[in-house]
Amino acid sequence: MMSNKLVYMDNNATTRIAPEVVKAMAEVEASVYGNASSMHSFGREANRYVEDARKNVADLLECHPEEITFTSGASEANNTVFSIARALIEKKKGSRIITTTIEHPSIIETVKYLKKEGIRVDLVGVDNEGRVRMDELEKLMGPDVVLVSVMTGNNETGTIQDIEKISALAHRHGALMHTDATQAIGKIEVSAKKWNLDYVSMSGHKFYGPKGVGVLYARKYAPFEPFVHGGEQEHGRRAGTYNTAAIYGLGLAAKLAKEGLKEEHDRLWEMRERLRKGLVENIPDVVVNGCQEHCLPGTLDISFPCAEGESILLMLDMNGIAVSTGSACATGSLEPSYVLLACGLDVELAHGSIRFSLGRYNTDEDVDYVIQVLPPIIKRLREISTR
Ligand code: PMP
Repeated sequence: MMSNKLVYMDNNATTRIAPEVVKAMAEVEASVYGNASSMHSFGREANRYVEDARKNVADLLECHPEEITFTSGASEANNTVFSIARALIEKKKGSRIITTTIEHPSIIETVKYLKKEGIRVDLVGVDNEGRVRMDELEKLMGPDVVLVSVMTGNNETGTIQDIEKISALAHRHGALMHTDATQAIGKIEVSAKKWNLDYVSMSGHKFYGPKGVGVLYARKYAPFEPFVHGGEQEHGRRAGTYNTAAIYGLGLAAKLAKEGLKEEHDRLWEMRERLRKGLVENIPDVVVNGCQEHCLPGTLDISFPCAEGESILLMLDMNGIAVSTGSACATGSLEPSYVLLACGLDVELAHGSIRFSLGRYNTDEDVDYVIQVLPPIIKRLREISTR
């Protein structure tokens, strides 16, 4: 039987667009139809919306507007950074990239592709909490490293890395520093200036903006190669006619994220802790994954031994609750989460993991509903478990 109540707790997969953003975008979509690259008044008007967004994003990331390039999302931003590194490696034969074992597939798969093309990439591991092993990273560093790429916060476990420290280490060795901040934007402070970053990737739909639009921050004078070739948009850095309304919407979402950052962080963390305590107290034998001290405020990843993640997900769905097993991008495959395996979890625990990701539009009532619905589901699944 399907439930009447609907609770969306999959905000790391994507967020609901903010009503203010939809409204502003609809107005722009309806009336601002010039090509933002055109020189006439229609084009200049559209361009003003694009530049307004660029300024809002620069304010959020603490950088200059000229350092912002709009892309189709974080996947493209990540691919662009790795193709810049590839170009550098081709000029400086034998040099290499360092990244981690827990990056998003838009980096992990890019690495596999680059390796097939003969590019050297070293992967640094993480500890049981999903934090980068700094001793291992230090050993891997050397003058031949062109790029270090480490995500700010993990999409599955929520574990946050010490990007400022890793950036200092990369720079000491003359390498460029990139962070995929897609999951961290709007939840914690991400500062290109304070962390001394060369490149940052992000995506509009993870912080209540539209889908299909994102950002690559590249520090002034940092090497750059376009990934999408064509027209002269973005000063030749990224070809393609501007999606004015979407870019404007992303900018507005960035402005709202900056204004409400502290409040949003604290509210998400409180709800996350309410959920964690409620589940730990009401379900025996659960394992909370990731680092509890350095964690994105809305993310809670839990393994339920002797209950399969996919079965839990489907039974929660029947009760109107949307969550994810591991990464949403892996849905459709029954492979255990590579992020949890990298954290040292055994295959069974990695299979029985559920990611709850809370967002701006969740309430304490949503949390209490999950605490009420999940314990009998786990009990039932464990009873029928063959393990
Ligand atoms: N990086 C991280 C950490 C993500 O969570 C995601 C989205 N799941 C991406 C990159 C890719 O974003 P998009 O699909 O919007 O390109």
